[in-house]
Amino acid sequence: SSAVYAEVRRPCRVMILVNPHSGRGQALQLFTGHVQGMLTEAAVPYTLVITEHQNHARELVRKADLSQCDALVIMSGDGLLFEVINGLMEREDWQEAIQTPLGILPGGSGNALAASVHHYSHCGFMLCKGLVGSMDLVSIHLASRQRLFSFLSLAWGFVADVDIESEKYRHVGAIRFLMGTLVRLASLRVYQGRLAYLPVKEAPKLPKGSIKSNQPPSTPQHQSLCSSLPCRLIPNTSQNRNSRHNHNSTNSNHNTLTNSSNNAITTKRPETQSDGKTRAPEDSLLPGLDQPIPDSWTVVKEEDFVLVLAIYQSHLAEDLWTAPGAMADDGVIHLFYVKAGISRPALLRLFLAMEKGGHLACGCPHLVYEKVKALRLEPVSPQGMITVDGEMVEYGPVQAQIHPGLAKFICG
Ligand code: ADP
Ligand code: MG
Repeated sequence: SSAVYAEVRRPCRVMILVNPHSGRGQALQLFTGHVQGMLTEAAVPYTLVITEHQNHARELVRKADLSQCDALVIMSGDGLLFEVINGLMEREDWQEAIQTPLGILPGGSGNALAASVHHYSHCGFMLCKGLVGSMDLVSIHLASRQRLFSFLSLAWGFVADVDIESEKYRHVGAIRFLMGTLVRLASLRVYQGRLAYLPVKEAPKLPKGSIKSNQPPSTPQHQSLCSSLPCRLIPNTSQNRNSRHNHNSTNSNHNTLTNSSNNAITTKRPETQSDGKTRAPEDSLLPGLDQPIPDSWTVVKEEDFVLVLAIYQSHLAEDLWTAPGAMADDGVIHLFYVKAGISRPALLRLFLAMEKGGHLACGCPHLVYEKVKALRLEPVSPQGMITVDGEMVEYGPVQAQIHPGLAKFICG
């Protein structure tokens, strides 16, 4: 639109964070070999940061002057993006900071987000080029009162064990998950715990012949460029960042964070405290971890599980299309659990079918899938592993709730 062109043009400044140890340890070579030249040619100013230790990126992002940075791009796996998101949410100005468009250049062995983005955007990729989409984040509470923000998954049981145990196979790349799965299958175990969730209310079906309501849909998006895709134009909400659009680029997808004036803001404003500061978004759906489950929640009868997996992207890994219907900003936690009693071959069949998203069609009576807004898991087994975005967290009771469209990511 003319409004966009009237703005001052300047290049998009990108901070690129590389974890040199991610995946097969090739992220840096991938950067210098494939990305650096492109950035230079397109005259995109960037700052390259090579992380030196775990949580380096998290600390850096927590303190960075974000007014100097139009996008944060990680070249690694999902673990580094987890660090960046939590670094942003730990800032006093989190509300603005989390609006910074995030990008991912696959460099790790996980890269579930990269797979999800790719899958849903391939047909409209060209159309959406340069767009920034919304992404749900899930707020997670641990027993020690620690709070984390997650963009991908919360796992317990089989999947969490594979996440962590397969770290030692990281040199083999993406098939490390398959190797980990086979090893875990051999020593399949049952995990005791209690699971409860707040289901998504499906809109009641209108009776035949009734007049359609002209109420807008309840999703926070008001307008979308292409409603079947996760990519939607969003406005640049921060006052101190002027234009973010293409400056004289012919085919680069790294400096086209287009600004648009005709679309709606998707993130709800949090309450303001008396001192004028905002606080991190409240988890209005969650009681205290020590409080009883609310009546509106569903308590799962079974207490013996093989796995519990909450996922909010379509892919758990490059070749694991876990939640075929999931969109990055659908405001839904896709909750899967597998009840104890499943045979090894049946479980293996599920994981093999997952490559093409066919596990729900396996007719497996042990697999349950629910769309939820919040959940609580209380492990009873004294030892075990819980992972958030593939990273191990404190073991114990945990609860989570979705925050629709809280983050922004570059999706084309
Ligand atoms: P991968 O896909 O290979 O698992 P990740 O991006 O998930 O790659 O990173 C794996 C782990 O390494 C994460 O826990 C991340 O926080 C951590 N990490 C990031 N930078 C470094 C570094 N420089 N040295 C060691 N660990 C790091
Ligand atoms: Mg990882």
